[in-house]
Order: sequence, then C-alpha cells, then structure tokens
Amino acid sequence: MPAELMLARLGSSRKEVAMPNQYLLFLALLHCGATLAAPFAVEQAAPGIYVHRGEHRDINAGYGGDICNIGFIVGSKGVAVIDSGGSPKVGAQLRKALRRVTDLPILYVINTHVHPDHVFGNAAFRKDKPTFVGHENLAAGMEQRQAVYLRNQAEWVGADAAGSELIPPALQIRGTQSIDLGGRTLRLTAYPAAHSHSDLTVFDDATGTLWTGDLLFIERTPSVDGDLQGWLRAIAQLRAIPAARAIPGHGPVTREWHAALDDEQRYLTTLLAEVRAAIKQGLGLQQTIESAARSEQGKWVLFDIIHRRNVSLMYLVLEWE
Ligand SMILES: [Zn+2]
Repeated sequence: MPAELMLARLGSSRKEVAMPNQYLLFLALLHCGATLAAPFAVEQAAPGIYVHRGEHRDINAGYGGDICNIGFIVGSKGVAVIDSGGSPKVGAQLRKALRRVTDLPILYVINTHVHPDHVFGNAAFRKDKPTFVGHENLAAGMEQRQAVYLRNQAEWVGADAAGSELIPPALQIRGTQSIDLGGRTLRLTAYPAAHSHSDLTVFDDATGTLWTGDLLFIERTPSVDGDLQGWLRAIAQLRAIPAARAIPGHGPVTREWHAALDDEQRYLTTLLAEVRAAIKQGLGLQQTIESAARSEQGKWVLFDIIHRRNVSLMYLVLEWE
C-alpha cells in the first residue's frame, strides 16, 4: 500500500493522528530513495474493522509468520481479534497496531482454523485474558498437530519461534453462535470439513463484512487440507450470506467476493474432475501432478508448490473411490 494512502487510512481517529512520527519518517525515507522494510500496516476495511495483509509466501523454512490476513473488530464494549499470525512476534505487532486504535479490552481472540500461520500469534494476547474462540474441532486439531507444528516452528520463523504455543479455544463453536461486542454482533459459523477440519467464518452485522478464513483464497492458490467436496458445499453455503464485502484468508479485501468464490470454485472443481479422470485413465501420481488442472496455472500465486500438494492429497483420497 502506498505510504500516503496508509497515512490517510490510519488518520481517522485522534489516537492514530497523535502518533504519525514513524510514518512521517517512513515517507521521508521514501523521498530520499532509501529502502526500509514496510511497517506493520493495518488498514480499515470497514468502520471498526482493521486488517493486516500478509505476503503471499509459502509456509516453508524462514516464511516469517506473516502470510495471511489477520486483524480485529472494535465494538463499544471491547475488541475481537480474528486470527493472530504465525508467531508470537506477529501477534505482538498486531496487538500494538490494535492499541494504536483503541484502549478497549480485548474480549475475544477468534481463530478461523488450525493452520499455524493463523494461530501462533495467540500467545501475544494471553495477558489480555481474552476468551479464545474456535470451531468445535479446533482443540482436537491443535492437540493432534501440536508436536509437528512446534517442531517445525523454529524452522518456519527462526528466532521468532520463542514463546510459541497453541492455545485451544475455551468457547467452542458448533453450528452458528453470536457474540456481542457492543453495538455490533458477530455471527460465528462452524463448517463441516472443507479447507480444513476446523473452518469458522465471522460475519459482522453492523457493516455486512464476512471474514472467511481460508474458505476463500484470492490470488493465492487454494490449499486443501480437509475435504475438497465439503469445501465446494461450504462455498455454496457462503454464497447465501448477505455480505457487502469479504475478508479472505489470503489476498485483498473485496466487494467482488462472489466472483472470487467463482474463481476458487473453478479451481477446486477442475482439480477434482481432472485428478479423478487421471486415476481412471491409470496415470501415476507424478503424471497426474504434471497434467491435472494445468489450465489453472498462471491464474494463481505459488501454483506449482501448492497445486502439487493438492494433487498429491486428492490422488490418495480419490484413488479409493
Ligand atoms: Zn489455512
């Protein structure tokens, strides 16, 4: 985001205006032609809804913990954080950005699903004593993956892994449940297996904003870790939500979210049909990776690496149909 725009977006309250020095410095350095890592940017997607956009990088050695959309929603009584980033450091950066906007208590930290880029920042909010919230399957998912995620975390984020822990939800969502932030109600919906086994969406009634977690990918290749056919059913379910805009798990906030769902649905449908056809033709896994859904190449970021994983997974599942 251009620095001027970021300043304009952050300049909407007294608290934010009172602290522009680092941004002015950033602007000054830009004008001098100096390079500087961008500060932790948070944009207001709708009144009271703030989002930090991660970069499109794969989860691998040194990914840094900052690749998905994380943020918070401010009500008149308190704040709900929605996803916390891939390390306590990223969580702390989000918390700092939140404190620039409001001093209200952090009542909830909501995780949209189990993936490490979305949950390892939870630890940065422990001192606020929020209610941690997630899908009814989230605690079990964390338990199952804890050993592997913690082992990988040092490799994924290096020294930032210090203090990493998986904090399971105290409030477990089954079906749909609402929470009240004061002046706005968040409707939380848990889905059967789709992108993962613990997908949860958050709908803010005050602004018609739908926070989809990784049920919606924009730009970045959708990655399957749950049930592809369940995901297609979840997409149909999402379409019925009367949202004016969506905040995807990865990619830009958009009002054109039905079109974004169309793209995702096309990729997933093509993947399903062509892996199925390849198995029927007797193609091996490697040949299937090289041939299935290749029409989607060039339409998505990180396609080669993520698509390969998707085909490998789907091949194993569909082989037994
Ligand atoms: Zn995910």
